[in-house]
Amino acid sequence: MSKSNFERPERIQFEATDCEFSTLAIRAGQHRSDEGEHNDAIYPTSSFVYSSAREAAARFGGEEEGNIYSRFTNPTVQAFERRMAALEGAERAVATASGMAAILSTCLALLQQGDHVVCSRSVFGSIVSLFDKYLSRTGISVSYVDPKNMAEWSAAVTPATRMFFLETPSNPLAELGDIEAVSKLAHEHDALLVVDNCFCTPALQQPLKHGADIVVHSATKYLDGQGRCVGGVVVGRDQEMEAVFGFIRTGGACLSPFNAWVFMKGLETLELRMMAHSASALAMASWLTQQPGIDKVYYSGLEDHPQHALAKKQQRAFGGVLAFEVSGDQAAAWRFIDATQIISITGNLGDVKSTITHPGTTTHGRMSAEAKAAAGIKDNLIRLSVGLESIEDLQRDVQRGLAAI
Ligand SMILES: *Cc1c(COP(=O)(O)O)cnc(C)c1O
Repeated sequence: MSKSNFERPERIQFEATDCEFSTLAIRAGQHRSDEGEHNDAIYPTSSFVYSSAREAAARFGGEEEGNIYSRFTNPTVQAFERRMAALEGAERAVATASGMAAILSTCLALLQQGDHVVCSRSVFGSIVSLFDKYLSRTGISVSYVDPKNMAEWSAAVTPATRMFFLETPSNPLAELGDIEAVSKLAHEHDALLVVDNCFCTPALQQPLKHGADIVVHSATKYLDGQGRCVGGVVVGRDQEMEAVFGFIRTGGACLSPFNAWVFMKGLETLELRMMAHSASALAMASWLTQQPGIDKVYYSGLEDHPQHALAKKQQRAFGGVLAFEVSGDQAAAWRFIDATQIISITGNLGDVKSTITHPGTTTHGRMSAEAKAAAGIKDNLIRLSVGLESIEDLQRDVQRGLAAI
């Protein structure tokens, strides 16, 4: 348990011991007050009181550990952090206001002017904007590489490279990066590997066990899994997390206790949900390959996916997101999407409700035509995040789309 988790040990109900994942997801890190509540308590308070002026001075002076202000620490947020650290097998976690805040904080805490980042080109769109539009102003530069191609990762390294950034599997085309190979290369160059584990969550993939140094999450997606809150988390070693915590505390992109509590409720069912999402997505992907009107299906669980073996090596299952190309143009893809009645048309994913989107004009709409072509985002491409509704109902809904092409 890290230093900053200054709770009185008797209040922590369950340390990260040698228990299985599902037990940790339900119990690790819970803080129980004198009231003896069974469920995790929520502490909606901006600040904390002291028994005396002397105690206040000692807390502010750092001679005594304890809560001061919820931008710094909050018991509900800390319980979520302890649980996330346990689930990723990390020393420490730092919760953030959103997934993007997790990535921004990691970069600003650990990089400085003149540093260089090697980043997979298949990352969430806002990450590219963050690097190109904002971090570039601070003198941090970035090179983008094909995540599948180790020669590209290697060739992009410069003497200034300090960080590698990999999202695996990626959105929307389910491209994978080899965490073990990329982390080896990063360490040869004294750089850190940061992995965005949003699509698998620790229920399906634990990047630190494969050599990654830091994992970032958009908790907004599967960690909540029910579309209620925006939030994020960074996990890793004490040393780097202390720097990230320092930045959050000062920069202010902290997580609210209410959202932390909602995410803990989400974690309780994370493993069940991820296995069910994966089973339904695999059934949907296999079924789609048989349907007339579908040109191509992208899902790493399919045996003919070029990185199926790597997916089996570093993931426990293949996740809930797939993509496919319909026979036709953008208009055909839009007709398909509009004909569905159950599946929600939304850019979000990782939810118990299935969602469908046309990446080329929504999530990836800001990319130039050349960038889209390089990344393989075609006009007839549709992304489907398979939820937990009946698979038969979802297939009937997709059939409405197929009929409309
Ligand atoms: C959504 C997402 C993010 C950003 O998370 P927010 O919570 O929306 O800020 C980062 N990475 C991936 C892979 C995502 O899907």
